[in-house]
Amino acid sequence: MNTLVDDRRRPELPPPMSSDPGHPFAGNLLLAALAPSDVALLTPHLVRGEHARGDLLFRVGEDVSHVSFPLDRTVATLMVPLSGGRTVETATVGHEGAVGGVVSHGYLPAFTQCVIQVEGTVLRMDADHLRQAKRASPTLNDLFVRYADCLLAQVLQSVACNAAHPIEQRVLRWLLGLQDRVGTDALPITQVVLGGMLGVGRTYVTTVLTKLQDQGLIHIGRGRIHMLDRARTEAACCDCHARVRRHFHTVLGAIYAPDGEIIAVEATPPGDDLTPRPDAILPELRGDVR
Ligand SMILES: [Zn+2]
Repeated sequence: MNTLVDDRRRPELPPPMSSDPGHPFAGNLLLAALAPSDVALLTPHLVRGEHARGDLLFRVGEDVSHVSFPLDRTVATLMVPLSGGRTVETATVGHEGAVGGVVSHGYLPAFTQCVIQVEGTVLRMDADHLRQAKRASPTLNDLFVRYADCLLAQVLQSVACNAAHPIEQRVLRWLLGLQDRVGTDALPITQVVLGGMLGVGRTYVTTVLTKLQDQGLIHIGRGRIHMLDRARTEAACCDCHARVRRHFHTVLGAIYAPDGEIIAVEATPPGDDLTPRPDAILPELRGDVR
């Protein structure tokens, strides 16, 4: 089994951020965006659980019985198995979202497997309870529809990126996406796992990372990769990372800190104007009309 976190040198992560630390679900930005009446619908059904790296939240073909919400720095990936034993990452989800029964209502066979890549706490609830809450609350349903749209956008952009962009930019896209979710320059990922995510071998990914290190963008540490210059890395990356962030911002009201971390979700209620607030527009996206 590939490993993402090196237990021998676990990174010291900063405390989690949230727009409202007093919210009962502050550790997950999607849940923290819920109105109080919607919080009351979900609270009785949410159960906390601790997960180690490598834990599977669901396997391919299993009925997805639960929806899981990563808290704080916990990160999960949706992996598609390929013939020959390889698996390739299709989406990475952290404290901004949820996995399992997000696009559907659950209780359908999973197309991917879901692997915990950065250990931590997860809140989970029965998919049927979430389905009932969606039916009871238009605002809650709207929030999850918006998130599902963003998750799909992330997957679609990954498809485009994998087909059209060089491996160096694909690596940068994935590293930036992980940094958005863990909020630290020291990313807890090994070269072996990174290669597995991208469907390339260890030797090849080492060559690519060494090239990026020579460019001064990253430093290859033991059990982690250090991001040295976020601005230069974003400039060197293809626009896939920025496009997904823009979609999260526009559709879900995602707010990003200057260092790139997703720190809040402020989805606009149904029927309200979707025009983003000027102070919340990503600097690199102002005037971007692509
Ligand atoms: Zn790309």
